[in-house]
Amino acid sequence: MKRRIVLLGPPASGKGTQADRLSKLLGIPHVSTGALLRSECTRGTPLGIEADSWTSRGLLVPDELAVRLITGWLEAHGTTFLFDGFPRSVGQAERLDAILGSLFAPLDLIILLELGDDEICRRVTARLTCLKCGATFSPFLNGLSVHDPCPRCGSPLAKRNDDSVEALNQRLNVYRKITLPVVDYYERTAPKLLHRISAEQESDAVFDDIKTLVWENDRED
Ligand code: AMP
Repeated sequence: MKRRIVLLGPPASGKGTQADRLSKLLGIPHVSTGALLRSECTRGTPLGIEADSWTSRGLLVPDELAVRLITGWLEAHGTTFLFDGFPRSVGQAERLDAILGSLFAPLDLIILLELGDDEICRRVTARLTCLKCGATFSPFLNGLSVHDPCPRCGSPLAKRNDDSVEALNQRLNVYRKITLPVVDYYERTAPKLLHRISAEQESDAVFDDIKTLVWENDRED
């Protein structure tokens, strides 16, 4: 079974939802840098305040800050993880390789969830997020409104301030310019680990594809 997994994909491709399901199934921690940053921001920490000046404009936080967050997480929790939203730049991918190399714990699966712009926009502009536990919900699938409590932890649901159309356009530009090159990087450095899955499919079908990859070649391991 794969134990060090990276999930890549544009906003609303379902990285968080799939990572969460997989984390429960495998007992591997789900690490979302976006959720970690939102939690820092809600708690008003210096890191959170610095991060918010970038995230609220749909921009990536500087690599240094994202790498600091992940390094701290690895030190505290060990080298079994499902990364959702990290790495998001080639610089971060290189740093992650170096850090994991020094721990003798290389990545063993990289999944790219692919989704077209129209569907991204439809999903993002409608979705609701729990600012406490970080879960996201689609009103289309879950029938929830902003007045309902989070089905998971009971806290209020809200629209993320970077889920506006303006911030989304910015995030998509950033995704194409800065994050998609990470896919080229892994195509060059780790082609056997990289797999693409269509996120246009129903969520359950995406999850089935992911599970297949997680256990693929296990008999040879
Ligand atoms: P997400 O919840 O994954 O959509 O992330 C929300 C926001 O957090 C992003 O738009 C970025 O501003 C910031 N962020 C999350 N992960 C990273 C990262 N690895 N590098 C830089 N910024 C990040």
